[in-house]
Amino acid sequence: MNVREIREILANNLAQVEERLQVACTQSGRARAEVTLVAITKYVPPEVAGFLCELGVLDLGESRPQELWRKAEYLPKARWHLVGHLQRNKIERSLSLLHCLHSVDSLRLLKAVHEEAQQQQRTIPVMLEFNCSGEASKHGFAPSTCEELVQPLQELTQVRVLGLMTMAAADRDARPTFAQLRGLRDWLRERVGSCQPLTDLSMGMSGDFELAIAEGATHVRLGSILFEGLTQHNP
Ligand SMILES: *Cc1c(COP(=O)(O)O)cnc(C)c1O
Repeated sequence: MNVREIREILANNLAQVEERLQVACTQSGRARAEVTLVAITKYVPPEVAGFLCELGVLDLGESRPQELWRKAEYLPKARWHLVGHLQRNKIERSLSLLHCLHSVDSLRLLKAVHEEAQQQQRTIPVMLEFNCSGEASKHGFAPSTCEELVQPLQELTQVRVLGLMTMAAADRDARPTFAQLRGLRDWLRERVGSCQPLTDLSMGMSGDFELAIAEGATHVRLGSILFEGLTQHNP
């Protein structure tokens, strides 16, 4: 496949996704501008991620820190989002590259990120990842631990907690999970008060993003749907 063909397929996929985003927003009475498309580029090399930027998609995400470092070096102008687990020994290097960390999955990590942000004399936008489906394979806070988060969120001011993030289980209706995340966000926002924004919801992937938008997603994380026809095996 040559570069022209790759760009053409990407532009087509993106146009179809845009159309569906627009329809989903309209159907739930929301403005398209309320929803950020974060393109998850883990399936493609940096050059293909670069074509997406040329098409106007500047919010890019990766699930593995090392891969994010590699691509961010190649595409420093993109706004980089980390959506997968961050090991503590990779915080320092990752923070300086990140626009938003979607996957804060423990209090220990939240504190460590706060401390590193303090070192780097900046605040870092983050989301708290919740494991709503209860699957053992997934990272994240259990919904029952919300209460324990209130005080730390008021104290750890170098992290700007934009909102919550989740992944729905593949084997059942995603909508109740998304509704639950919205409920958790509203609950936390009320308890935590004005020291954290808690306005956002990072939810919805290729298979379920329209449901997520209907439940108030502000960030949809789309990977495979953008790269259809380009990657050999879509997961
Ligand atoms: C891979 C990944 C996505 C994108 O998934 P697709 O189903 O390919 O759209 C979104 N969020 C996270 C956390 C991921 O790891």
